[in-house]
Amino acid sequence: MKVTQAEIVISAVRPEQYPEDALPEIALAGRSNVGKSSLINRLINRKNLARTSSKPGKTQTINFYRINEELYFADMPGYGFARVSKAMRAAWGRMVENYLTQRQNLVGVIQLIDLRHPPTRDDQDMYEWLKHHDMPVIVVATKADKISKGHWPKHRKQVKEGLSLASEDPLILFSAQTGQGKEEVWRAIGDRLRD
Ligand code: GDP
Repeated sequence: MKVTQAEIVISAVRPEQYPEDALPEIALAGRSNVGKSSLINRLINRKNLARTSSKPGKTQTINFYRINEELYFADMPGYGFARVSKAMRAAWGRMVENYLTQRQNLVGVIQLIDLRHPPTRDDQDMYEWLKHHDMPVIVVATKADKISKGHWPKHRKQVKEGLSLASEDPLILFSAQTGQGKEEVWRAIGDRLRD
């Protein structure tokens, strides 16, 4: 996809603030620091539209980016902070769960996994939950530039097996640094928009 327009429309704290123009939405989920902001910036060719690294304890928002009047990215708060309070975890769960189960315009979720390591328990729980709700998932394995190409197959297998990846869900190796995988991610998004 050629991105000619990309803007952040709202950082929503409540469902009433979600966009109302009914464009299809692709949500992004991943543990904090996995490279979610970097992926968004790379996909839309912007250095800094998506802020990098939200800090634990910050107000949790779903950030909506409108792309080309064609779709939204819904950037969900990162999961897996070790030290946040129970109350914050509960608030995260309510917000994300409500969005993912109620949102009519949602056509798929990009789940990011760090290619370097086996999926964490949080990664596994998230993926399992999405599949339980019959959500199409595009798994993007990030930071591929940090692994030598010769080791990619081994790490790809580690992600695939760690998640028990469903056969219909694509797994794409990606690097925000080199742009590796960018076109493939856009193609997978295109497939979701056309389904
Ligand atoms: P977020 O918390 O998921 O939004 O993660 P960020 O996009 O802020 O990335 C976290 C850290 O990982 C930052 O220091 C990024 O520069 C780095 N990072 C993200 N993606 C890549 C990548 O593809 N390659 C490399 N080498 N570093 C990356």
